[in-house]
Amino acid sequence: MRLSHLLFKTQKQAPKDEVAINAKLLIRANFIQKLMAGVYSFLPLGFQVRERVINIIREEMNALGASEIIMPALHPRSLWEATGRWQGMAKIMYQFKDHSGREIGLGPTHEEVVAVLAKTAISSYVDLPKAVYQIQTKFRDEPRVKSGLLRGREFTMKDLYSFHRDQPSSDEFYDRTKRAYRKIFERCGLNSFITEASGGDFSKEHSHEFMVECPAGEDEIFLCRLCGFAQNKEIAAKTKNHRCPHCQKGVWEKVKSIEVGNIFKLGTKFSEPAQLFYKDSKGNLKPVIMASYGIGVERLIGTIVEIHHDEKGMIWPTSIAPYLFYLLEVGESSSALKKFGEQVYNRLEKFGVEILYDDREKVSAGEKFADADLVGLPWRLVISEKTLVQEKIEIKRRDEKESRLIKLNEIKNYLKR
Ligand code: ATP
Ligand code: MG
Repeated sequence: MRLSHLLFKTQKQAPKDEVAINAKLLIRANFIQKLMAGVYSFLPLGFQVRERVINIIREEMNALGASEIIMPALHPRSLWEATGRWQGMAKIMYQFKDHSGREIGLGPTHEEVVAVLAKTAISSYVDLPKAVYQIQTKFRDEPRVKSGLLRGREFTMKDLYSFHRDQPSSDEFYDRTKRAYRKIFERCGLNSFITEASGGDFSKEHSHEFMVECPAGEDEIFLCRLCGFAQNKEIAAKTKNHRCPHCQKGVWEKVKSIEVGNIFKLGTKFSEPAQLFYKDSKGNLKPVIMASYGIGVERLIGTIVEIHHDEKGMIWPTSIAPYLFYLLEVGESSSALKKFGEQVYNRLEKFGVEILYDDREKVSAGEKFADADLVGLPWRLVISEKTLVQEKIEIKRRDEKESRLIKLNEIKNYLKR
C-alpha cells in the first residue's frame, strides 16, 4: 500500500483533551479520530488493526463450534421489561421514544434478544447444545470516558451466547471458552489473568474476568504470579501474611488491570422470561441453561497500545499490525534512489508482501523516520545511497536498535505474522 493513497496525516502533538496513552498515540498516528467523548472513527490503519483483531476472535469462536450471527442495535422496551433490566440498566442504556412514541433502547448487551431469537430453533433436547456469537456495535451511556478506546460510549463487542440442557454440559463449554479467550489474548500479544469476580445478579457462582496487568487500567485485582490465581478487588479474600489464598506460597499482590473480557454463567435468568424451554427425553419442559461471553474489540486494541509502545510510538505485535513493513527512502532528491524505492516496492507488492510504502512527497526523511516509529509496524525497511550501491535494503525491527543489510529476496525470512 502506498501511504500517499491513504487518508493519513500524523500529528506531532497529542490532542489536549486526551489523557490516555492509547488515545494519544492512536490519534497522533491517525489510526482513529474522536467524534465526541467516547466515540471514535477508525481510519485506514486503525481499521486494518481492527479487522485483524476481529479475525483472530472470529477464528477462535468458530473453532469452538459457535456460529456467527448479527442482531439489531434497536430494541423494544417490552423485551427489556420482561427481565427487569429496562429499569435495572436504565443508567447505562440509551433509551428514547421514536416519532410515533414507541419506546426504544440501544442495546448495551444482547441476552434478551438472543434468548427470544433462540426459541425458533430450540424446542427439544435434540436441538441442544448451541452457541452463537456476533461482532456488533454496543451503546452504553458511560458516565466517565477518560481512557480512550478502553471505555467508549459506542464500541464493538464480540458477544457469544451458549445454550445447554444442563449445568454440567454448559460448564464444560464455559471452560473451553475460557481457554479460547486466553488464546485470543495471547495471539494479540497480551498476557491475561483469569480473575474470579462476583456473578452479579445472574448467579451465585463466580463470573470470570480476563484481566491484563496495566497501570492505565481502571480495575484493581489481586493476583499470584506463582500459580496464576487472581480475584478482583470486590471479592478478593483478605489473606494472612499476604500469601496467595489458592497456593498459599506466592505473594498475593494488588495490581491495576484492564478487563478485556468477561464471561458469565446465566443459568435460567434469561431463558425463563423469554420462555426458552426445551422438552427433555421424558417429555418434561425445562428452561435452557445459558451463558454469555464478551470481549470488547476496541478495548482490546487500546490495551495492546497501552502495553506495546515506547516514547516514540506504538509497537504492534506482528499478528495484528496493519502491515508488516514500513518502507522509506533517505534522500528524496535522488532520482536513482526513488527509482530503486519504486522497484523494491513494486516487487514486494507483487509477491504479496504486506508493505506500507512511505511515498509521500514533500515529507522529509526525518519526518518519515519519526512516523515509522509512531505508526509502529514490526519492520522498517530503508533505502539509501549506502544500500543502493550494494543493491540491498536496510531492515530494522521496531523494538530493536540494530539494523542490518539484506538482499531483497531475503525478505522471505521476515514474512511470518
Ligand atoms: P466494565 O466493568 O469495564 O464497565 P462490564 O463488566 O460492564 O465492563 P461487560 O458487560 O462484561 O462489561 O462487557 C463485556 C466486555 O466488553 C468487557 O469485558 C469489555 O472488554 C468490553 N466493554 C464493556 N464496556 C465497554 C466500554 N464502555 N467500552 C469498550 N469496551 C467495553
Ligand atoms: Mg465486566
